[in-house]
Amino acid sequence: MKKNSEKSQLKNLPSHLPVLIVGGGIAGAGVFRDLSLHNIPCALIDKKDFTSQTSQSSSKMLHGGIRYLENMDFALVWEALHEKNLWLKLTPHLAYPEKFYLPVYKSSLRPLWMVRIGLFLYDALSSFQNLPHEVASVKETLERFPTLKKEGLTGAGVYSDAVVEDAKLTLECIYDGLVSKNSYACNHTSFTNCVKEGDIYRVFIKDELSGLEREITCDHLVFTTGPFTDVLLKGLDLFPWIPKLMLSRGSHLWFQNDMLKAKGPMVLTPKDGRVIFVIPQNEKTLVGTTEVPGEPNFDQMPSDEEVTYLLNNLKDFFPNADISEEYILGKFAGVRPLVKEDPNATLGKVARDHKVYQPESNIFILLGGKYTTFRIMAKDVVKPLVHKMKLPYRDDLSLQPLRRVSHVIPWHEIKLTKELIQSIIEDEFPKTEEDLIYRRMGLNSEQEYLDMKNQLKTLNITWPWS
Ligand SMILES: Cc1cc2nc3c(=O)[nH]c(=O)nc-3n(C[C@H](O)[C@H](O)[C@H](O)COP(=O)(O)OP(=O)(O)OC[C@H]3O[C@@H](n4cnc5c(N)ncnc54)[C@H](O)[C@@H]3O)c2cc1C
Repeated sequence: MKKNSEKSQLKNLPSHLPVLIVGGGIAGAGVFRDLSLHNIPCALIDKKDFTSQTSQSSSKMLHGGIRYLENMDFALVWEALHEKNLWLKLTPHLAYPEKFYLPVYKSSLRPLWMVRIGLFLYDALSSFQNLPHEVASVKETLERFPTLKKEGLTGAGVYSDAVVEDAKLTLECIYDGLVSKNSYACNHTSFTNCVKEGDIYRVFIKDELSGLEREITCDHLVFTTGPFTDVLLKGLDLFPWIPKLMLSRGSHLWFQNDMLKAKGPMVLTPKDGRVIFVIPQNEKTLVGTTEVPGEPNFDQMPSDEEVTYLLNNLKDFFPNADISEEYILGKFAGVRPLVKEDPNATLGKVARDHKVYQPESNIFILLGGKYTTFRIMAKDVVKPLVHKMKLPYRDDLSLQPLRRVSHVIPWHEIKLTKELIQSIIEDEFPKTEEDLIYRRMGLNSEQEYLDMKNQLKTLNITWPWS
């Protein structure tokens, strides 16, 4: 069998494939894995590194979505809670359960008794697989969050969701797919154009690092290009495409733990009716997110206004903490690829479920959804595709554990050696230092990136791609 590093190079792609998947975020990774588990020869390509866009910029939660209860999206919450609990079992090295505290004040929109009913419903929608909800007293809440505002606090609702290493889960789904014999995955490879020739598609692809261009043919095309889909499809002459997306940008900040001194994750409910998560992980605390109209640009960064919005809300909720930009260790932003089917839907209210479009019988476009439900989203593409090939779809395959684990396990200290880096390069095909440090090693603040870059200089690493 070919090595992973060989199956990741554009020049090694077969000249014809039954399926080509364009876009290697979590949606594309899920489709690639499921097709590969069904032994359907396929390739996954991404213009940048896999998972380098929205799928590494989430709030890093596998969750049912406590706030979707308000929109009465019970089916979505049920599905997401069951998927969360599945992935906690399948990938315990990439996700762990956490108790989230939701502080309630006398001025809160929903009093504690109402929160309690909501949390019971949340547990029920998980078929009671969630760790059961609780109600914490004011004293317990302040012990856990010593710098939290005390005035008017009546207690906290406590429910269970999960923290996930989002970039790694996407990557490990791709590594899992690559275990199958005829599966290929090329990062830094863009889909530039496509023409239809009879029943097949001639696709033009380009290695963005070397400039190498190739043409391959395929029987089926799957687009999992998330927020970039409308721009990409409108630029093609393949079929008419009416834009479907309502892009919503969300930003996050990483802070030093000693700023808020939070001893666990919590959900803040600011006056504007949104929610802000505060999630400590090892020595850093993640705070986010915002919700502003987004643009389909690559490599997003938070605006000054978004940083100010998050800082101001923290100041409101943590008057006893010394909050300032100086504690910021890193920032990131992503764009939610929400599908706007209802013309009156607004950013906060647009449905979070996914849609599959089939403008031609051999083209599938997967849009929207949540990170947490990626397996179901993938199934909604792969099942009809497999049936089209007159093969049976097997539900049990995607329920199996992933077959290949990353070299660097999240939340563990990294012992940097030349052997470790060479193994990562060989097995997990990072092609730039950013790919290696941010996603394969899982370091996600600017300071950690610079420190690691300096350490790597001393190791004299050989890059097969350059
Ligand atoms: C701020 C924020 C917080 C979120 N928090 C959560 C959360 O906590 N939990 C949760 O379940 N969900 C969360 N979500 C939702 C979730 O992150 C997204 O739904 C999901 O990551 C989208 O994945 P995707 O694969 O569709 O898109 P992407 O990850 O953006 O992947 C699309 C890929 O297509 C590639 N591409 C584009 N054009 C081309 C081309 N021409 N050729 C080849 N490749 C191309 C891009 O490079 C990109 O890698 C959050 C989203 C945001 C924005």
